[in-house]
Amino acid sequence: MIRIPCPFCGLRNCDEFVNKGESKRRPAVGAASREEWRAYLYDRVNPEGWVRERWYHRAGCRRYIKVERHTFTNEIRRSEPAGT
Ligand SMILES: [Zn+2]
Repeated sequence: MIRIPCPFCGLRNCDEFVNKGESKRRPAVGAASREEWRAYLYDRVNPEGWVRERWYHRAGCRRYIKVERHTFTNEIRRSEPAGT
């Protein structure tokens, strides 16, 4: 079981969250090429190691958070509000 430390609600079961995928920087609107948008929307790195992800606390505060999670051990070493 994965327990996620929500910065607003505290330590909660992962069943309360929805994993929204890797946290990436969005391309600049109007300046990015079609290839940059395609890569932003569809390409995933999926490494074995530490990744930064966005999670949505569906059954809690209903806010987005950023989580740093190890993909092999599911250890979480950091979480913070999204947009920081
Ligand atoms: Zn929460």
